[in-house]
Amino acid sequence: MIPRFRPYIGKDDFFSMFRLSPNSVREYEEGFAKTFTAEYAIAFPYGRVALWSFLKALRIENAEIIIPAYTCVVVAHAIVLSGNIPRFVDIQFEDYNMNLAQVENAINEKTGAVICTHLFGYPMNAEGLNVIVKHAESRYHRKIYLIQDCAHAFGACRNGKMVCNSGDAAIFGLGISKTLTSIFGGMLTTSDNTIHKSLINFRNRFTTVGFFKQLSQILYFCSVFVAFNNSIYSLVHLLETQTSFLDALTKSYHLDDKIHFPPDYLNKMSKVEAGVGLCQLKKYPEIIRKRREIAEYYSKNLSPGRKYQIPPLIEGATYSHYVLQMSDKHKCLTQFRKAGIQLGEVIQYSIPNLQSYRKYADAEYPVARSCAENSLNLPIYPGLHTRTMDRIITLLNGISKDNA
Ligand SMILES: *Cc1c(COP(=O)(O)O)cnc(C)c1O
Repeated sequence: MIPRFRPYIGKDDFFSMFRLSPNSVREYEEGFAKTFTAEYAIAFPYGRVALWSFLKALRIENAEIIIPAYTCVVVAHAIVLSGNIPRFVDIQFEDYNMNLAQVENAINEKTGAVICTHLFGYPMNAEGLNVIVKHAESRYHRKIYLIQDCAHAFGACRNGKMVCNSGDAAIFGLGISKTLTSIFGGMLTTSDNTIHKSLINFRNRFTTVGFFKQLSQILYFCSVFVAFNNSIYSLVHLLETQTSFLDALTKSYHLDDKIHFPPDYLNKMSKVEAGVGLCQLKKYPEIIRKRREIAEYYSKNLSPGRKYQIPPLIEGATYSHYVLQMSDKHKCLTQFRKAGIQLGEVIQYSIPNLQSYRKYADAEYPVARSCAENSLNLPIYPGLHTRTMDRIITLLNGISKDNA
């Protein structure tokens, strides 16, 4: 069975869990900042907690925080749990990111921040957004923070510049299904001295994790390591379809309607996590290069028809996911499963349509709603064989022909 995602972890990542120095977390932060060309990086237990901490530490309260209607729901959780109000903006099909004109319309005298999400690794026009935010600041005489959500877009570039460095700060998710991982974990980068100080003070009040928590992280990582081994994955997949075993790895992102954080959200990142994170950082250029190659290969060889659309190839994108739009995708999912290939259904909701968020909806979000229904993502990770890509392409081109 070909899995829908696969962490790029090897023996080196495995052994890095046991090669710990007292300063592992600081070394990881410094390495992360350097790789993503920021002055500072601050580690958190989750990406969502990095955002929540930013809002809390800078005392942003009762403000409207602008986010895309189509993004990971945990971002909205962080906004509500910090005592703020999510304000949703629809995305556009061209690059899956917020439409700038609609962001401009959504900004008002209550806006405290704009989350600039680079969905699926597509760099949003962060410079354009910066101009809009600066105008709004002088119009409303208040600071409006600009935060880059780079959970899908580690190092994505626009006009040769990393988008994570425009605005006030960037957040990254480092869970097992992300482009880079530290087992769990999240990161915030900034080049602003004052923001850095506030966040360090805030984060330093978190709990240092003990021996047993780290042991459980080691065991979890071992189980992931084993689960993604080729021959074992078929068994895992079987377990997944019969039970919810693998969903436990990613379930917090799926259809999770309740506004809550995991119980360990006030823990510091552990040395074990930082060890893996540091090892992963070295592989970053290779991971991105391979993802780009796979995206190009798919796009060159797929011949979409009326049945489905392929995603854009955009300069500087990092392709955390390669997402097709296909109505009636369930037949395709079944067909692929029978062929031993698992496709993903990344983000199956438009946040303002979820029960807990309906009260924040103040418009229709047609593009988000359509993507929630029709998105399907192909395996795209380093180590994916050309022959597997060719099988995927043949199956999909068959689907286009069926209905030509
Ligand atoms: C995963 C993700 C996050 C947050 O990451 P966690 O570490 O799971 O909290 C934020 N934004 C997007 C778009 C994500 O996919």
